[in-house]
Amino acid sequence: MIDISEGVVPAVEDLNPFHIAQQQFDLAVRYMPDASAGLVEFLRRPDRTLTVEFPIETEDGVVHNFVGYRVLHSRVRGPGKGGIRFHPQVTADEVRALASWMSWKCAVADIPFGGAKGGVVCNPKELTTQDLRRITRRYISELGDSIGPHTDVPAPDVNTTAQTMAWIYDTYQMMHPGQNNLPVVTGKPVDMGGSHGRREATARGCLFATQRLLERGGVPGLDLVGGSSVVVQGFGNAGSIAAQLFAEAGAKIIAVSDSRGAIAASEGLDPDAVIAHKEITGSVVGFPGSVPMSNEELLAMPCDILIPAALENQIRLDNVGTISAKMIAEAANGPTTPAADRYLNERGVPVLPDILANSGGVTVSYFEWVQNIENEQWEEDEVNSKLHHKMRRATDAVIDAQARINDSLEELAALSGDASLRPIGLRTAAYVLAIGRVAKVAVQRGIWP
Ligand code: NAD
Repeated sequence: MIDISEGVVPAVEDLNPFHIAQQQFDLAVRYMPDASAGLVEFLRRPDRTLTVEFPIETEDGVVHNFVGYRVLHSRVRGPGKGGIRFHPQVTADEVRALASWMSWKCAVADIPFGGAKGGVVCNPKELTTQDLRRITRRYISELGDSIGPHTDVPAPDVNTTAQTMAWIYDTYQMMHPGQNNLPVVTGKPVDMGGSHGRREATARGCLFATQRLLERGGVPGLDLVGGSSVVVQGFGNAGSIAAQLFAEAGAKIIAVSDSRGAIAASEGLDPDAVIAHKEITGSVVGFPGSVPMSNEELLAMPCDILIPAALENQIRLDNVGTISAKMIAEAANGPTTPAADRYLNERGVPVLPDILANSGGVTVSYFEWVQNIENEQWEEDEVNSKLHHKMRRATDAVIDAQARINDSLEELAALSGDASLRPIGLRTAAYVLAIGRVAKVAVQRGIWP
């Protein structure tokens, strides 16, 4: 075991997201003595990684070449499902990690999808709307029939929006006229087949999971979101709406950040006003009455609930010792490294893991897909109440799995011959639950042919 509490910091942490996803998977499998080795190896790797390279003539008349990926991790439980990210630091391994997290997330949420993810290496801050439209259309046409309403269904992620999803639908519709193509992509504008509540779903699901964890007594010294102090890292779709919804539930948002910096206000920030400020200035920084700080200082702020809602690897071995939150709710994917996670678990800081905490997004994407197939549109209340039910059930299943495993450690150690098994946190419990659900269906279906 790494004793980082004594200040013994090991050499450099491996921050490759796919290596991290595999470490998380491997740790969970140690608590699954019945899992067969061949099946484990099959579920550990993605089924397919597509790389596409294509040119775009940008608005200034220059031809630029872009690289895009689409990874399908697993279709055991249903079509691939996962967002598309536009970011300069996208790599094949990042997309592989995100795709595998989608498989486990869909299984934890108990929705009939596998895991997939896409990404294009580009910097949206340096591109115009027309450039982004061309990149989206060309990327989707290059992917061709590897996506489809019943094979692999994209959605929004970092730097992609409902507008991007509208272009994806339109491109796919041009390629496949004469059929109902609405379910090919989720997170669309509500006017063209999007679901009410999808825009808020990731953050709302995160709130519901947090509320359920607190109701179940999962965080020592914290019973309610109402009256709690909350810090949010990242102020896009997931983060800004989490700030709004947690504030609506009675929490005080004491600090928020985006890629340009962080702001704090001990008496609490008004998320609506910060969103309005960001719309005008492009950043939360400079919000009147707030104190500027660095992202590192933001993560270290004493608070009840810390919500990372930006990118991967934000809470690492080198800064985890500064975390002063009572709990962490991962709205982002992969914000905590395995070593940091182990440290938090040993210190008794519960972490609602990404594959549970942000599963509200894909859950309402699933609702959108169902509505599209049935040519229906549900009311927002119906969507939110179904989401509440799903999040509560998923959170209960993870908490129960954790208790079940930690109560039977001796038995598991005897069965697996691994005497080093230690009590697990919510992340490993969520993985055991998810891998078990996917493995069960894989066995029921049988290995083809
Ligand atoms: P977004 O593009 O809407 O917002 C990202 C935000 O993070 C922006 O405010 C950006 O400025 C900020 N940011 C980037 N780097 C940062 C840094 N170093 N420090 C602080 N802030 C930083 O993206 P999003 O859709 O909100 O996604 C955020 C996270 O949530 C990602 O990990 C994504 O995979 C995850 N997620 C999103 C959804 C969804 O439905 N959008 C669903 C599940 C998970």
